[in-house]
Parts: sequence; structure tokens; C-alpha cells
Amino acid sequence: MSETRHTKILIIGSGPAGYSAGVYASRAMLEPILVQGIEPGGQLTTTTEVENWPGDTEVQGPDLMVRMEAHARAMGCEIIGDIITSLDLQKRPFTAQSDSGTVYTADAVILCTGARAKWLGLPSEEKFKGFGVSACATCDGFFYRGQEIVVVGGGNTAVEEALFLTNFASKVTLIHRRDELRAEKILQDRLYKNEKIEPLWFHEIDEVIGADSPLGVEGVKVKHSKTGQITEIPCKGVFIAIGHAPASELVKEQLETHHGGYVVVEPGSTRTAIPGVFAAGDLTDHIYRQAVTSAGMGCMAALDAEKFLAEHE
Ligand SMILES: Cc1cc2nc3c(=O)[nH]c(=O)nc-3n(C[C@H](O)[C@H](O)[C@H](O)COP(=O)(O)OP(=O)(O)OC[C@H]3O[C@@H](n4cnc5c(N)ncnc54)[C@H](O)[C@@H]3O)c2cc1C
Repeated sequence: MSETRHTKILIIGSGPAGYSAGVYASRAMLEPILVQGIEPGGQLTTTTEVENWPGDTEVQGPDLMVRMEAHARAMGCEIIGDIITSLDLQKRPFTAQSDSGTVYTADAVILCTGARAKWLGLPSEEKFKGFGVSACATCDGFFYRGQEIVVVGGGNTAVEEALFLTNFASKVTLIHRRDELRAEKILQDRLYKNEKIEPLWFHEIDEVIGADSPLGVEGVKVKHSKTGQITEIPCKGVFIAIGHAPASELVKEQLETHHGGYVVVEPGSTRTAIPGVFAAGDLTDHIYRQAVTSAGMGCMAALDAEKFLAEHE
């Protein structure tokens, strides 16, 4: 028989947004329940060095997330290893079904289900993820000072990442499978004027190549999309910039989304269009997508939820 648990605040997701919301909601004596999902700790558990988390010159992503979890627990947040499989936001209390069979009912819900970078899907890309292959120039560009880099993609993100990476790299090759970019014209103009960037048209990555010990990228094999000819480009970093997919499946029929699935919140807050439902972190953010901004939004969501509950009790 399935168990039903009621909570004042249900936090869905265990990345920086979820754990920060857990810390703040616990300290407000709201006894939140946090459901971790399939990836306890979120995206940062898939990386190595993080150098832009304030207070830590360098920290390993998984270690940081273990500390965040311990912090939320220590403040009184109940953290459950489970996955929310469906969510009914049509009436309060809101109802969440979970993979374990437990049904959670909640007076307020904080959605922190994050986002996923889209990858090419190559085994060699997987092998070097975090060791030369990245999907975040803001996070990892600094590691490639004076090095050659390739960026894959043709939209705004790819062009912005390529331009940003010229602050560090000696050369940036932008690999695109067509011969024109989808990026806005103004970005294209900046790209073409930048002497450090060389576009490589009609190509896609066939394989990321590198050393096994220590693990690290040394180049990419690229395939001409018309002739099939393979050539090699030496580089130390490979940035995949083909888009992100927010994890909004649970709510996409119930809440407004934009920019390809990101949950819409009221500007300057974490309030969604449904009173009592809040969203934070990468799930709502197609621009910054950082641990520190996600944590900040998690804090905002807990404070917004606390205010909402106080007004509705
Ligand atoms: C390889 C890599 C390196 C990065 N490096 C940096 C860096 O150096 N610095 C930096 O600031 N940022 C970095 N980022 C970005 C940073 O990780 C994200 O901005 C941040 O993790 C977003 O936090 P979040 O809490 O919004 O969601 P996420 O970290 O995406 O976590 C989402 C959570 O939601 C849970 N979830 C999803 N669906 C469900 C469900 N149905 N039920 C229950 N739970 C669910 C998942 O299990 C997960 O715990 C990096 C990202 C990647 C991928």
C-alpha cells in the first residue's frame, strides 16, 4: 500500500537550488521535504574542479554537493532518495506521485529540477567529459589560458561561447555542420571580426582524441559533412554548445515555459503563475546557468514560499 506524506514545502531536486532552498526553508522552521531525483547533487556531481564557487578557490563538484546536502540535513531538511514521477498542481495541497510509491502532498512546491546540456552522444566525448570536454565556457574557459580550443555549434550559445573563450584561448575553431550560423547577426559580426576565431564549415566532430594518463584532450577528428573526409585538429579543450534542455517534463502542461522549456517566473522572484508553486535554478534560467545563481534562486524560492505560507495560513 502506498504511503502518503504531507509537508508544508516539497522541494523537488537536489542541485545547488534545491539544497539552498532546503537550508532556508528549514531555518524558517517549515520542515521541508526534499526529493533528490535520479541525480543526487545535480549537475555539479558530473564535473571535477569548480573554481567559481565563492569561498572555495577550488573545490571538486561532487565534494561541494556532499557538503551542501550535509548542510541542508543539519538544518533539519528531510532529504529523500526518490524520484517524482508526476505532479498535480491544479489544486492545493499539491500532489506528487513518486517512483517509490509514496505520495507527497504539499502546501507549497519548489521546483529545482535543473537542466541538461545537450551532448553529441559520442563515446569519446563521454570519456573526456570534465577532462577537456565541457558544455560551459563560463565554468571552464579559465582552464584553457593560452591553449587552442574548439567550439561546436552554430546558434547564439555557440557564438557567445566562442567569443567569450577568446579571452583565454590562443585560438578558437568554431565547428559547424552547415556553412552559415543561426546566431543573431550582431553576434555573427563580432565573431567574424575576431581574429582568434576560425570557423570550420560543413564539419562535425567524429571523435575526441587524447591521452589516458593523465586523462586529457589532445585534439578532435572532424568529418566533412559532404565528402566524409576526416581531418585532425589539435586542441586542449572541446566546448559543446548545441543547447540545453530544462527538466520541465513534470510541469510543462501546467506552467508556462519559454526559450525551449524553461519555466517562466515573475521577474525578480521565483513565483510561477500558480500561487504556491515556485521555481528556481537552471530550470528557470536560460541565461546564467551557474551553481551560485541557482543557489541564490533556491534561497529566493524558500523566502517566497515562506511568505506565501504565512499569508495563506
Ligand atoms: C560538467 C558541468 C560543469 C559545470 N561546472 C560549473 C562550474 O564550474 N561552476 C558553476 O557555477 N556551474 C557549473 N556548472 C553548472 C551548474 O552545475 C548548474 O548551473 C547547477 O548545477 C544548476 O543547479 P540546479 O539546482 O538548478 O539544478 P541541477 O544541478 O541540474 O540539479 C537538478 C536536480 O533535479 C533533480 N531532479 C530532476 N528531475 C527530478 C524529478 N522528477 N524528481 C526529483 N528530482 C528531480 C536531479 O536529480 C538533480 O538533483 C556545470 C555544469 C556541468 C554539467
